[in-house]
Amino acid sequence: MRAVIFDFFGTLTDPAAEALRPGTFAETAAALGVPAEAFRAAMVASFPERIVGALGGTRETLRAMAHRCGAEPDHERLDRAVATHHAGAERVRTPRGGALAVLDHLRARDFRLGLLSDCASELSEAWPETVYADRIDVPVFSWREGRRKPDPRLYAVAAERLGVPAEECWFVGDGGGREHDGARRAGMRPVLVTNAGYPGASGTRVDPDTYLPEHRIDELDELIRLLGTACDNG
Ligand SMILES: [Mg+2]
Repeated sequence: MRAVIFDFFGTLTDPAAEALRPGTFAETAAALGVPAEAFRAAMVASFPERIVGALGGTRETLRAMAHRCGAEPDHERLDRAVATHHAGAERVRTPRGGALAVLDHLRARDFRLGLLSDCASELSEAWPETVYADRIDVPVFSWREGRRKPDPRLYAVAAERLGVPAEECWFVGDGGGREHDGARRAGMRPVLVTNAGYPGASGTRVDPDTYLPEHRIDELDELIRLLGTACDNG
């Protein structure tokens, strides 16, 4: 197996950081000048649109959210809201302890590394400035591709851009968006990160996967042992 494709939220990021998300939404709402609860509801309801890019970039998205809350922000207010929203998104994508070391370890052992994330505009726009960017060879964002997990074309695109056959790719995720079933159907080898050490974290997953992979680890750093074992076994 020559490549590892990672889910992003709750897999490379700190699962506990998901708890910060409602607070960041409230800050964006305040900057936008709309009620926090109406904004949160609009963001939650628009998730399926936002992650396939149907609402455009962050600025366009926040303008659409304001409209849905009955507000019409001027340019200055929208600028402030975009900056506030990006700052909040950065806090939610704090790396999981040890995650960057795992990526560095695998790269040093010549694994090609990919990302496959169901994400909205925030991550796609900020990606080059994140600590993850230099460590991932091929990031694939649902927002940019216009399709979400478990769409088989997303997995095919990731494998193709990595230059590695799907059969030689591991897929590692915490099980949102039916991602492991998608990986299995694509011919990849799925690994579930259970996040057992983060009570309540599984409650933040969207569209949870009911297919349970054979390979399961509680923490991401166990991946090194798992891949080492698998490689030793041919
Ligand atoms: Mg996830």
